[in-house]
Amino acid sequence: MEKELILLPLIPLRGITIFPYMVLHFDVGRKKSLLAVEEAMLNGQKIFLASQKEAKIEEPEENEIFNIGTICNIKQILKLPGDTIRVLVEGENRAKIVNYSQKEPFLKAEVEMLQDEILDDETRCEALIRSVKEDFEEYIRLSNNVSAEILVNLDEVDDPGRFADIISSYLILKEEKKQELLEAFDVYERLEKLLLILKNENEILNIEKKIGLKVKTKIDKSQKDYFLREQIKAIQEELGEDDENKKEIQEYSKKIKKAKLPKEVKEKVLYELNRLKNTGSYSSEGGVIRTYLDCILDIPWNKRTKDNLDVKKARETLEDEHYGLHDVKDRIVEYLAVKSMSKSLKGPILCLVGPPGVGKTSIARSIANALNRNFVRMSLGGVRDEAEIRGHRKTYVGAIPGRIVNGMKKAKSKNPLFLLDEIDKMNSDFRGDPASALLEVLDSEQNSSFRDHYLELDLDLSEVMFITTANSLDTIPRPLLDRMEIIEVSGYTYEEKFHIAKRYLISKQFKEHDLEEEKVNFSDSAIYKIIENYTRESGVRSLERRIAAVIRKAIADMLQKDRDKISITVNHVKKYLGPEIFSYDKADKQDKVGVVMGMAWTGYGGDTLPVEVSVMHGKGKLQLTGQLGDVMKESAQAGYSYVRANAQKYEINPEFYKDKDIHIHAPEGAVPKDGPSAGVTMITAMVSALGNRKVKHNLAMTGEVTLTGRVLPIGGLKEKTLAAFRAGIDTIIIPKANEKDIRKIPKSVLNKIDVILAEKIDDVLQNAFIEEKNNDN
Ligand code: ADP
Repeated sequence: MEKELILLPLIPLRGITIFPYMVLHFDVGRKKSLLAVEEAMLNGQKIFLASQKEAKIEEPEENEIFNIGTICNIKQILKLPGDTIRVLVEGENRAKIVNYSQKEPFLKAEVEMLQDEILDDETRCEALIRSVKEDFEEYIRLSNNVSAEILVNLDEVDDPGRFADIISSYLILKEEKKQELLEAFDVYERLEKLLLILKNENEILNIEKKIGLKVKTKIDKSQKDYFLREQIKAIQEELGEDDENKKEIQEYSKKIKKAKLPKEVKEKVLYELNRLKNTGSYSSEGGVIRTYLDCILDIPWNKRTKDNLDVKKARETLEDEHYGLHDVKDRIVEYLAVKSMSKSLKGPILCLVGPPGVGKTSIARSIANALNRNFVRMSLGGVRDEAEIRGHRKTYVGAIPGRIVNGMKKAKSKNPLFLLDEIDKMNSDFRGDPASALLEVLDSEQNSSFRDHYLELDLDLSEVMFITTANSLDTIPRPLLDRMEIIEVSGYTYEEKFHIAKRYLISKQFKEHDLEEEKVNFSDSAIYKIIENYTRESGVRSLERRIAAVIRKAIADMLQKDRDKISITVNHVKKYLGPEIFSYDKADKQDKVGVVMGMAWTGYGGDTLPVEVSVMHGKGKLQLTGQLGDVMKESAQAGYSYVRANAQKYEINPEFYKDKDIHIHAPEGAVPKDGPSAGVTMITAMVSALGNRKVKHNLAMTGEVTLTGRVLPIGGLKEKTLAAFRAGIDTIIIPKANEKDIRKIPKSVLNKIDVILAEKIDDVLQNAFIEEKNNDN
C-alpha cells in the first residue's frame, strides 16, 4: 500500500487520548498549541493530536510525545476568559509521526495515515466482538459511569475496528492502556487487548463493590445498635426506671406548686411536664420542653412589689436625684396622689422626649426608686423584627421568647417600671412591624392579655408602668404616639448645667470612684469653664465625662505631689483637658451683606444655622448648596418667588431675575428636624444681597413664610433660643404665633436677650437691617 504523508500542525495532549470516531473537547492554553490551532483553522481544520508521555511537561521534546496519535477535525472553537480556548474535535484516523518538520513557533509534523488491516477470519472476529460486548455490558453495570444507551448504538456498527475504538473511548483507563489500544493497528490484536482490559477492569470493579458493601453493613450495624439502645431507654422510661428523669419531674412539680400560677398557665405547664415525662431526659425534644418550662417558671405571674404611696417621700427622692425636670416629677406625684385614692389605677405610659443626655433614662430609674418598683430597661434602637418584641413560635428551632417577656423575667415582679428606650429609633421591614406589636404592649385595653408567640399564654402587663424615651417625635408612628403621654424634656442652660454638675454629677463621680468628696473641690468658675469651652450639647453627658476626666487627672496629680487635697481652678481645667475645644463667642462681630443667622432645631437640641446668599451676573438661576434638606430647598424656592413678587417694595430692581443668578448656601449644621423654619432667614438674606443692605450681626431668626408673606410658627423655641444665646446672639426674631412658648425660655436667658415678634415678613425685614443704606460696594 502506498504511504500517504500529510503535513499537519500538532498538539501534544496532556492526560487524554483521542481515538478515531471520538468526539471530545479540551482546553488549549499553551502558546504553541494556540498557534497550532490557528494554523489548522487556516488549512482545512485538520490537526494531529498525540498524547505526551508525561502530562506534567510544559514543552515536550519529540521523544516525549507518543509517535502514534489521531488526525482530528476541529468542529468548533470557543473563546474562554484569558488566553484560553476550548476546542471541540472529532477523531478521524490513526496516524504515525514520520518526521517533525518544525518546532517553532509551533509543532508541525509529517504523519502517515494508518488504515485498519482487513480481517479475513470472520468467525474469530465475531467471537471476539461478542465477548467484548458481553464484558462491556458488565462494565457498564458495574461502573455506573457509562449510559447503557451506547449499547444500542453499538449494534449498528459493522466495522470491528471502529467497534473497538468506540468502546475504548468510553472506558476510564490509565493513559498507557489507552495508548496501547490506540497503537494496536491489527484489529484482532485490538479486540483481544480490549477484551483483556475489560475483564481486568470488571474484576477490579467487582472487588470495589464488595468492599463498599462491607463498609455499609458495618455502618448499618451501628445504626441498629443505636436503635436498640433507644428502645431500651424507652422501655426503661415506660417502667418508670429512669431515675434522673423522675427526679427532674419531681423538682419541676415542686417549683410549679410553689409558683402559684394562674389557672391557664398551670394547665399548660402540667401538660408540658407530662410530655417531658414521656420524651425522656436526653432527647432533643426534652431540651426544648425544659427551656420552655424554665422560662414560664421565671416569669413573675403573681409577684408584686408594694408601691410607695407616700407622695412627700416620693417627691423627696425625685428631687434628691435630679435637678429640674419639673414636668416629669409633677406628673409622677400626681399619679401617686390619685393612686393612693383609687386602687385600680393603671400605670400611665409616659414618653419623655428630648435631646440626648438630658436625663430621660436616669429620671426613669429615679421614678422606680421613688415608687419602690423594680426597674427594667430595654432599648428599642435598631429593632426591626416583630419577633424581637413578640418572640418566635415554638415550632422554630432555637425559638426564644420576645424582649417583653425577657424584660418581665428580669423584673421579677408583675408591676415593674419598664423603660422602653429610644422608641423613635425602631425600624420596620419585611420581617414585620415591631411598632404594631408594641401597640399591643402599650394599649391599656389590650395589655392585660399580651400574647407572646413563644409563650402561647396570656401575660398580664396592665400593672406595669411603661416609660418610653425618644429624641424626636417625628419617627414615632401615629397610633403609638396616641397611646402615650408626651412630656418634653428640653436642653439645659449654662446655669442649669452648672447646678446639675455641682449638685449631682460631681458627687456621682465620687461615689462611682469610691472617693471622699472633700479631697477634690471644684471652684464655680472651673465648672463654668468646662461647660462653656469643653462641651457643646443640650444635655450633660459629655459634661459628666469631662468632670470624670478632671477628677481622674486631679487625683493622679495629687498623688504625685503627695498632697491630700486639691482645689480645682480654671487653670487646672485648662491643664487637664488641654486647649479649649469650643468657644461660644463666635457670632460675627461684623454686620455683613447676604449673611443671616438662622436658628435650627435638630434631634440633638438647638443649633445656629447661618445662611449665605450671593448674587452674581447670570440668567436668573437659583442655586442651593450645603446642608439643606428637601423641605428647606422648597422653602428657598418659595422665598425666591416671594422676593421676586415683592421686589419693588424692598427697593430691588424687579427685573433682577433676568440677569442675576442667586446662590444660597448653608455652610454648616445638621439638617433641622422642623424642616422649613428657615424661610425668614433665606428671604432676609436674599433681600440683603439683592438690595446690598447689611444685616445686624447680633441677630438670629426663625420662622417659615407663606407666599403672601405671613410668618408661621415653629417648634423647639426653647432649644433654639438657648443655642442662639450660646452663640453670642442678643436679639432674636420669632413668629408672633410662638409668643405663648416664650415662658418656656429660662429667665436667666430671657433677661439677656431681646425677643422680637413677627407676624409678617415685613416685621422681620424692618428689624433685620442696619439703618443706613450701604453704598460703598
Ligand atoms: P438621656 O437618657 O436623656 O440620654 P441620661 O439619662 O443617660 O440621658 O443622662 C446622662 C447623665 O446625665 C446621667 O448620668 C444623668 O444622671 C445625668 N443627668 C441628666 N440630667 C440630669 C438632671 N436634671 N439632674 C441630675 N443629673 C442629670
